[in-house]
Amino acid sequence: MASFQKLKCLNNGRKRSAVNELITMIMMIIKHQIDCFINLNGGDIKQLEIKEENMEGSSSQSGGTSTNTAPGNSENNNSLSYKTILYENMYNNRILLKLEEDGFITPDEKSKELIKELSEIKYLYALKVLFENLQNEFSSQVLANLLEALVDTPFNHYSKESVARLELHLRTLVTVLERICFSPIVLSKELRDKVYNSLAKFAEIHRKTTQVIEIGLDNNFRRNFNQFNQQSNNQDEQIIKKRNYNIDFLLIHLRDTLHSLRDDEARFQEIIRRIRDLLKTALNITPGILTIAGINLPNDCSILSMLTQIRQSLSFKYPVASYYVDWRIMLIIQNNLFIWSESSEKIISKKFSELVLMEYIWSFLEGEWVNAADKSILDSQTKFDEVSNKVVKSLKNAGGFLNELAGNEPIALPHTLWFGILDLAQNLIQRSSRIATYGLCYYLAIESLNKAPSNFIQFKSIELLLHLYNVDNKMFSMIEIDFDQYTQKLSENNLEDSLENFRNLLTFVKEKYHEDLKILSNNTGKGKEGKGKSLNQNSYLKKKQTSNSNILDVIADEITCPINSEPTDQLCILKCQHILAISNLKKLKQKICPNCREKIEDNDIRYLPQNSIYKNLYTKFFESGHILPSIELENSDQLYDSDDSDNSEFDFILIKNSNISSSLLSRITKKQHPTYQNIIKEINEKHYEKAESLCKEFLNFFPKSYSLRCILAYIYRCLNNYEQAHLYLEEAIYLNL
Ligand SMILES: [Zn+2]
Repeated sequence: MASFQKLKCLNNGRKRSAVNELITMIMMIIKHQIDCFINLNGGDIKQLEIKEENMEGSSSQSGGTSTNTAPGNSENNNSLSYKTILYENMYNNRILLKLEEDGFITPDEKSKELIKELSEIKYLYALKVLFENLQNEFSSQVLANLLEALVDTPFNHYSKESVARLELHLRTLVTVLERICFSPIVLSKELRDKVYNSLAKFAEIHRKTTQVIEIGLDNNFRRNFNQFNQQSNNQDEQIIKKRNYNIDFLLIHLRDTLHSLRDDEARFQEIIRRIRDLLKTALNITPGILTIAGINLPNDCSILSMLTQIRQSLSFKYPVASYYVDWRIMLIIQNNLFIWSESSEKIISKKFSELVLMEYIWSFLEGEWVNAADKSILDSQTKFDEVSNKVVKSLKNAGGFLNELAGNEPIALPHTLWFGILDLAQNLIQRSSRIATYGLCYYLAIESLNKAPSNFIQFKSIELLLHLYNVDNKMFSMIEIDFDQYTQKLSENNLEDSLENFRNLLTFVKEKYHEDLKILSNNTGKGKEGKGKSLNQNSYLKKKQTSNSNILDVIADEITCPINSEPTDQLCILKCQHILAISNLKKLKQKICPNCREKIEDNDIRYLPQNSIYKNLYTKFFESGHILPSIELENSDQLYDSDDSDNSEFDFILIKNSNISSSLLSRITKKQHPTYQNIIKEINEKHYEKAESLCKEFLNFFPKSYSLRCILAYIYRCLNNYEQAHLYLEEAIYLNL
């Protein structure tokens, strides 16, 4: 790197004047190195394409950038990855292809065939895949018939396999019912009651299969079964340990959805329409908010304020469980984003749809986390178990549907919304091929695990982490360490019971996950070589490893405005798919994209809020140097007198936007980390000795922070201690090599 060579030369003589220049350059280099690091390690990562275009070579390319937002292109390279198995299942499902060969072309024709084999896992899976593709359209008769058939499918035995089958069965049922929700179909009262009453049957199957797993298939089933019936307390305890909570969740979701559909589908359609319109406005898909010519830029278009609006206007005719309002809003948002990004018109790009969806996911979970005190780990487990038993009983109560017509709010498991949102994240991982999305899901799962108030949330967080590990076992190889750290935390807090509990849960979820994978790999043609073998991690030989690429870097990169070079919360995405901080969009003198110079038209700007993600990852961004503290330099102009002509991409941006004077040092970020504010305050007041000692103190907490070293260097420069300034700069460089 040419600019680095230059740094070396500066070692000889003229240190004094050089240090000023150095500070500027080093900030640039730090940024640059992060980008280069990502580029080196992830040549085939799709979402880095934009960055590569900017960074490759030093000539700034202009015009002609087309961003590929179509799914799947890069996936074809990793022919043996788990991701491919997922992909094969979703886009090349063996059974669906076979049906096509046999002349069943339309989605209706396919589902009419699949309906005949609903007790077989592979057909069930194919059916789910068929319905999850929102491009496929179905006639209302097929939808209703399928719903009925799924309710009538017999479960005549209980085994380990039937747990996996039950989950898949209920997921398929949910998928079909969601289709009905989003289409103008009114179910007959008979069918709706029939589906509702089937929930009791499924709850009973759930209970029995759970017992089978508990007891173990090696033992005499009947004998143990009787034994447990005599010790009913013990039995409950046993069930809790190896319980597939996904099934509990799906049953509650089905119950409440049927509830909300009751009698008043027109109202339900109205709710969908309103949320869709609000979302369109908030994202500027219906142009109006974001106009670069005027001053109509949003200040309060955050997701939270939008949600408050929706919540206030949303009510169901019959009472639903309290979590359900937010849950339904989330499902409607997700549905719209998927449809807009997958439809042939491509109203929005897949990248944009995922970024927005992730922000909503974070935003909802943030609300859940506020209510969960993180030091009292698992103290609500007992309460959870109580409620859980009640929910099962209420589902099993045959007349429940009529009873609830009386108008009482149905009982739901604590933190159902939290669980559901994590389930959506898991679903998104399957659809996505973007590392930033995986990374955001990773932090989501870790945060949820750390704050988990019960086994319920622990279960889902573990499952999500295992899922990520299977998508990319190199990148997510740290999850075992995360599990260790979590158990450590439990033992440090003397939560022996919880610790034991968690270990059992972890083993169970791993076994369960393994079973699910079997279903998946048996469904593709590639599973031929043997059932167990294809699950072996080692067999997934990837041609191109994405190892070592720091997940946080990828996330930060995605929401980094090219003008101030750091992650930002209020962004917009342009037609060329480049992003820009809204505050900088306002300031652009020439309305062209700073990256590719494409002309910016009002109608092409999409609003991209990332407030929750930014807020929750702020500390991480800061510690890793993606966000630098703001320092007002008294002589910031002078910093750009130097002839760093080889930093052309920076030059380009700086010259283009000279009115913003976006020096890396003099930037003002709104939300400063509180621990750093004092340092900055002291610097601004020119109390450099005080700032120095504070800075060194904080360096003990963040020993690897290079941003802190850069500040220290700056402080020493102000103290005229060029030796020390130079020393810290070198350390900073070293940390980033
Ligand atoms: Zn552009």
